[in-house]
Parts: sequence; structure tokens; C-alpha cells
Amino acid sequence: MSPGGGFCKEMIEPHVTYGDCDAATSNMELRSSPFKAVVSGLSEHHGFASNNDVHELLECPVCMTLMYPPIHQCPSGHTLCSSCKARVHNCCPTCRQELGNIRCLALEKVAESLDLPCRYQILGCNDIFPYYGKLKHEKNCKHRPFSCPYAGAECSISGDIPFLVMHLRDDHKVDMHDGCTFNHRYVKSNPQEIENATWMLTVFNCFGRQFCLHFEAFQLGMAPVYMAFLRFMGDDDEAKQFSYSLEVGGNGRKLMWQGVPRSIRDSHRKVRDSQDGLIIQRNLALFFSGGSNRQELKLKVAGRIWKEN
Ligand SMILES: [Zn+2]
Ligand SMILES: [Zn+2]
Ligand SMILES: [Zn+2]
Ligand SMILES: [Zn+2]
Repeated sequence: MSPGGGFCKEMIEPHVTYGDCDAATSNMELRSSPFKAVVSGLSEHHGFASNNDVHELLECPVCMTLMYPPIHQCPSGHTLCSSCKARVHNCCPTCRQELGNIRCLALEKVAESLDLPCRYQILGCNDIFPYYGKLKHEKNCKHRPFSCPYAGAECSISGDIPFLVMHLRDDHKVDMHDGCTFNHRYVKSNPQEIENATWMLTVFNCFGRQFCLHFEAFQLGMAPVYMAFLRFMGDDDEAKQFSYSLEVGGNGRKLMWQGVPRSIRDSHRKVRDSQDGLIIQRNLALFFSGGSNRQELKLKVAGRIWKEN
């Protein structure tokens, strides 16, 4: 029993997975992440064994992720990351003594001297980073996985582009088209109902890359509108090498848009809210639809994707 302390009421074993969403998710994420493979791979092939041992010291015994300052310790020296410290009710998960508020400055200093590979190494990133620069890099690493571009429902799937293309086709039943030009007809009954939802997603295979054409209905301020825009399945610097055009019309009128596809790193919502696409007022869309039947909307959208330069 510690001099100042006594045992805590709550007993938490190390290595537990909390029912808590965040902890559970980050735990899962880490287990399935390439990170461990990366570190052990390094120690095997490049003789970084001692680095690896230090790396283990820096792993929080509760959530198994790397600890960043402030790193805490109990009076007996068991270490703990700051987010776990906030969750264990001041009780050391290893020995159950009262934690108090002791920083582990020595370990924080050791961390500073470490160089570690990016956690996305097996996805192609070969950079090595000082311990404290690693997290910052990983947030923007070009090799980090992409989130699922499907916008109709919350989807937490992420991965590289070939994986996401398969996922869109198999799990979201998204239409896939080959070719850089298209001519689509969108038909919608009850166009007076504007729901804030995705209406349509189509994926185009073109130039060996994939593009998502979003088409949807929403309320822009007071005005019900339809909007079509293209997102590129890849990073922004590559997205900028392409252009696209969209045309919608009928009744002898035509509306045209030329733009640059946005990377799917930009969320569907962000692109929509920035109005970076073809926007058609509902009244105009109904006029394009022709006929006197305002119960059904039929829009012909033609488009083309090309590579600049
Ligand atoms: Zn932790
Ligand atoms: Zn302890
Ligand atoms: Zn990286
Ligand atoms: Zn998805």
C-alpha cells in the first residue's frame, strides 16, 4: 500500500478494452494498423532491436498506443498515457495504487531521441520521423488511407483506392462506368420533396483512375436545388491535373459547368457546401424536364473528364 494512498476502489486490469467507444475504436484501429508490423519488421531487418524495446516502453499498457507528453506514472513507476489517466479515476491500472499527478519526464526525454517510421509504411511511406513529428506527419501522410466517399449514409470504412472501389461496388452497389464521357438521365418522382440526402453516386473509370459523380437534391438557403459535382479518388495534387464539364438542359436551354474534380480527402459535405459544382434551381430543372408533369423530374446530364496539359 502506498504511503499516501491506499487501494483504489475500482480495479482495472492492464490491457483491458474499455466499453467506451473511443478507446475501443482506437484499440481496434491500432491492432489492425500496420504499425506493429512496421516496427518489428524494422528490428528484424535493420537491427533496431534496442529502438524497438524503447518503443515498447512507450506503449501505454492500457490502450496500447504510443504515449505522448504528458506521460504519467504512479508512485511505483508504472506509466500511463494522459487520455487513459483521465479514464482510470486516479487509480494505477497496473498496481491499483492512487496515481496522483506524477509526470515521467525521463521517458518523455527518451522519446525525443527516437526516430520511428511512419505508421503507413506498409502502404508505401518510407519516411522516418522524430518521435514528436510522427503524429503530425501521419495526419497528412500521402499514404494514409482514404475514407469511403459514399455519402448516403455514415460509413466508417477506409482504405486505399482499389479497396474502396471494390467496397463501393460490392457494399454500396454503386454504378461503375468505363470511359471519360457520359450521358445520364436522372429520373425522380415527387421532385417537390427536397430531402437533404444523396440521390446518386456513379463511379467513372477513366485514365486508369476513378472519379465519383455525385448528384443530389438539397435546400440551398431557401431555394431547393439539385447539384452535380465530381470528386477524384486520390490526392488533391493529382485531382488538379484533371478537368471536367457537365451539361444539363432541355426545352432548347442549356446550363454548363466546367470545374476541377475535388479530392475525396475533401468530404462530400465540404464540397457540396462550397458549391463547387453544377447547381440547378429546382424550377429550372423542372423546366428542363419538359412537359407539364411536375410530378416527375427527368434530367439529362452529359459530362466529360479530361486531363490537362
Ligand atoms: Zn493509454
Ligand atoms: Zn502502479
Ligand atoms: Zn507517412
Ligand atoms: Zn462505404
